Amino acid sequence: MTRLSGITPSGHVQLGNYLGAVRRWAAEREPADLFFVSDLHAMTTSHRPQRLRALTREQFAVLLAAGIDPDSLFVQSDLAGELGTLNWILECTCSYGEAARMVQFKERGAGQESARVGLLTYPVLMAADILLQGATEVPVGSDQDQHVELARTLARRFNANYGDVFAVPEAVVPKTAARIRDLADPARKMEKSNQQSPGVVFVLDEPDAIRRKFRRAVTDGLDEVRYDPDGRPGVANLLEILAACNDTSPYTATESASTYAELKEAVADAVIEELRPVRERARELLDDAAELDRIRAHGAKRASERAQPRLQAALRVTGLR
Ligand code: ATP
Repeated sequence: MTRLSGITPSGHVQLGNYLGAVRRWAAEREPADLFFVSDLHAMTTSHRPQRLRALTREQFAVLLAAGIDPDSLFVQSDLAGELGTLNWILECTCSYGEAARMVQFKERGAGQESARVGLLTYPVLMAADILLQGATEVPVGSDQDQHVELARTLARRFNANYGDVFAVPEAVVPKTAARIRDLADPARKMEKSNQQSPGVVFVLDEPDAIRRKFRRAVTDGLDEVRYDPDGRPGVANLLEILAACNDTSPYTATESASTYAELKEAVADAVIEELRPVRERARELLDDAAELDRIRAHGAKRASERAQPRLQAALRVTGLR
């Protein structure tokens, strides 16, 4: 079993990414698990090159600092050659209708003359990510389910048309993890692409900034520390964050404070301590460009070694070799 998980450098890594994904990836990883920073996927809408480069490095450093094994981590564009080749082969295995039916494309680009073709075809690139690494399981949220389904369809079709080259991947629902909400707007989830919100806590934020964001967190006028996700989403979010940091339940977390002000301080303390080692290690890595480049090149080499046999087989059976 090989699981493949990715994170897109569309913004700075935020607390939700960390508690909901990265921390678990590091803690629960099996030897065959693979992780990548999907920088190619960050180009489907307008992007700034300098920023993309910096965010990619930052995410790579945060994943390493969180404890992901350097052998199992790579940057997607470091495999651009292999991926680009397989992407083309898979695009020629996929119908326009299949790509256009993807809900994300329908919501974000369908009918717009200016929508990038990459927005239409990036699920095919995602299939290439998965198939090239021989991933058999892809942990995804419900919004990406359809894309893994497309990867399954393309793998099966390719194998049936040309020969058995690819493992057919399966989407798996990650074990329930806290869904962290924006501190300034508990109705929406915390998102790294929502840079402007004062309620998004970033993994590399300094302790002062983290404390300030928690002090300003939106709650309600009741000032009674009770866990009620539907009725009091702001307070429930704080309790869930505290519980995630302390490995306890949100109900138990209610015992940590009797007023909202106390609760906010308790959550800020817990988050600062939770993120401190990750931030410090990530900063060290980011300050040592040569070391980061070395680790990145190593990860790229390993990923390429895993990819090559499948890519060569795909080239052979399709008549390209
Ligand atoms: P974007 O703003 O670009 O959509 P995002 O912050 O929502 O970014 P993704 O790159 O889509 O993050 O997801 C990376 C991983 O982080 C996924 O496994 C996703 O489930 C997890 N994740 C993202 N946001 C949260 C959140 N608020 N709470 C818990 N997990 C989250």
